Amino acid sequence: TIAKTITLANGVEMPRIGYGVFRMKEHEVAYNGVLEALKAGYRAIDTAAVYQNEEAVGQAIKDSGIAREEIFVTTKVWNSDQGFDNTLRAFETSLNKLGLDYVDLYLTHWPKPTLAETYKAIERLYEEKLIRVPGVSNHHQHHLEEVFAAANVKPMVNQVECHPSLSQDSLRAFCAEHNIAVTAWAPLGTGIVFTHPVVTQLAEKYSKTPAQIVLRWHLEIGNIAIPKSVTPARIKENLDVFDFNLAPDEVAAITALNTFHRTSADPDNFD
Ligand code: NAD
Repeated sequence: TIAKTITLANGVEMPRIGYGVFRMKEHEVAYNGVLEALKAGYRAIDTAAVYQNEEAVGQAIKDSGIAREEIFVTTKVWNSDQGFDNTLRAFETSLNKLGLDYVDLYLTHWPKPTLAETYKAIERLYEEKLIRVPGVSNHHQHHLEEVFAAANVKPMVNQVECHPSLSQDSLRAFCAEHNIAVTAWAPLGTGIVFTHPVVTQLAEKYSKTPAQIVLRWHLEIGNIAIPKSVTPARIKENLDVFDFNLAPDEVAAITALNTFHRTSADPDNFD
């Protein structure tokens, strides 16, 4: 069995399945989505300054009536706010918009030439206990190595695009070696694999949907996953992946679907 949370390098527990809120800019959409997710049992929300919905996320958390410490909130510093001082300022803005007095996980959204200074600000926020976990996003191994060279505390999470068409084997191995948990964004990928026989046959075998098979694969390979949906039935479905196991050869068969296909930019060429 796989627990619903993963223990990060500093002992903090992070939910293995979180609710992603990208492309939910409209206040009502983000607010209702987060409330729905919390009602369904999610205890982690993944937002970012650039998603422009931190107010809605914070309001939904407050209105849910669930204790703040039971919810794991992630947000990210946007590219144009990178650098030491700018990151500290951007964090304060995010905190105010969220209406919180701390954030669980703060990430550099994309690596830029200023990634080391940006991470040092995140490290400062960690020292000041304004965040519980320092992390990064979209960092290749060489970006992580650049961070390591500048930092006292290694990032504890790297959030990267990962799904069966981009299984990230070497980056995941590198992160495991350094005790960095991997969060998969776009965990369902493009949906192409939903119709692949490897996935549809497992869905039939376990009486689960293709999306649930893919999410379970993430758990089996050690990932955290943050699926996004605004449809209540799918929000529930995406969390309902803790009551079955995939056999090692089944996990390997899904991993082997890798085609190095990205749904978005390569972090080396993101502008
Ligand atoms: P996803 O894999 O979560 O979802 C893709 C699409 O799949 C959704 O739009 C939805 O239409 C569909 N879907 C959801 N549940 C389904 C189900 N059960 N059955 C069938 N279809 C289903 O991709 P995403 O939204 O791009 O990523 C998820 C989250 O990751 C985002 O909301 C965001 O929080 C985060 N993210 C981070 C970055 C980054 O740079 N760090 C980039 C993109 C996304």
